[in-house]
Amino acid sequence: MAKITLENLAHSYMANPKGPDDYALKELHHDWTDGEAYALLGASGCGKSTLLNIISGLLRPSHGRVLFDGRDVTDAPTAERNIAQVFQFPVVYDTMTVRENLAFPLKNRGLPPDEIARRVQKVGAMIDMEDQLNRKARGLTADAKQKISLGRGMVREDVNALLFDEPLTVIDPHMKWELRTQLKKLHDDFGHTMIYVTHDQTEALTFADKVVVMHDGRVVQIGTPRELFERPAHTFVGYFIGSPGMNLFDATLDGRMARIGETAIDLGAAYSGEGRIQIGVRPEFIQLRSGGEGLPATITRIEDVGRHRIVRLDVMGHEVSAIAGEGDPIPADVDRIGLAPEGINVYADDWRLAPIGSDDTQGRVA
Ligand code: ADP
Ligand code: MG
Repeated sequence: MAKITLENLAHSYMANPKGPDDYALKELHHDWTDGEAYALLGASGCGKSTLLNIISGLLRPSHGRVLFDGRDVTDAPTAERNIAQVFQFPVVYDTMTVRENLAFPLKNRGLPPDEIARRVQKVGAMIDMEDQLNRKARGLTADAKQKISLGRGMVREDVNALLFDEPLTVIDPHMKWELRTQLKKLHDDFGHTMIYVTHDQTEALTFADKVVVMHDGRVVQIGTPRELFERPAHTFVGYFIGSPGMNLFDATLDGRMARIGETAIDLGAAYSGEGRIQIGVRPEFIQLRSGGEGLPATITRIEDVGRHRIVRLDVMGHEVSAIAGEGDPIPADVDRIGLAPEGINVYADDWRLAPIGSDDTQGRVA
């Protein structure tokens, strides 16, 4: 196992990149702590696979260095990095049996046969294919083949890191949950550094200690699921994580007071920032009111989603979402919304501002 350091890393697939737009991965500097389980989360095309392939050595970065425990491996081939990587689509040897496929990485490294047999049996059980170990891989479903690929990724105990690139895409939905649980258990048992790429927030939030959120070739936040929920560092995180995502209101800022349209809002702390100022409030922190203070609002729709209801409102021509708990009454004459102070985040040009004088580390202090 190893700490992985990405030093001033950037990547462009172009021969002569001209500006930031030509980079699939914009400059990034980060340590991946040894033994931690990370999820790399972001929409399709944001650079997740590019980053993963640079870590594994399939791709050489156009700028910067990759270090494993301080040793420069930027030019080292994948085999030398001692990494297991599982891809979105199955990579199996059709002419081999399931057992031979699983044993392959161990045989390659010259492990003794009884050790190989023990590991293969254990991983066979983890992927729920114990009774198919002697079958040839040819003719198995895509789903079963992907389980073999996953098993091959999990079979070695001596790896520096385990990398998974959207590995459950072709897996049956009910098996997805089971396999994710097995991956988590593998992490708990062996403490490997794991990086799990996904575009699915539920998958990311249930798997990882730390979630790395990417947007448009940039890492916009690294945080625990709770930090991403409570203190989204970028408006993209607010919008992408949570269901529905964070509401954003254009505002002007004057110390601890903000103004949205004609309404003054007490932010509870003072902020200072330049550029486009927005107030972000998750639907959980929107209060429905009739009369009194707040932003003028009209309910347009109520959606019952089981555990709670989502209330859609028109607020000065913009759609705003609020969440009402199972037992919370929704007054018929709602004409205002309030913003709960503990749920307020302030953004300048999409980046979160930390309150002046706070030791808050999830935002920028202007
Ligand atoms: P993700 O895995 O998040 O979907 P990728 O890392 O695959 O994103 O891609 C990031 C960007 O780089 C995308 O715009 C994609 O089109 C581009 N890209 C990926 N691979 C290549 C390649 N081999 N050559 C040129 N452009 C690529
Ligand atoms: Mg990808």
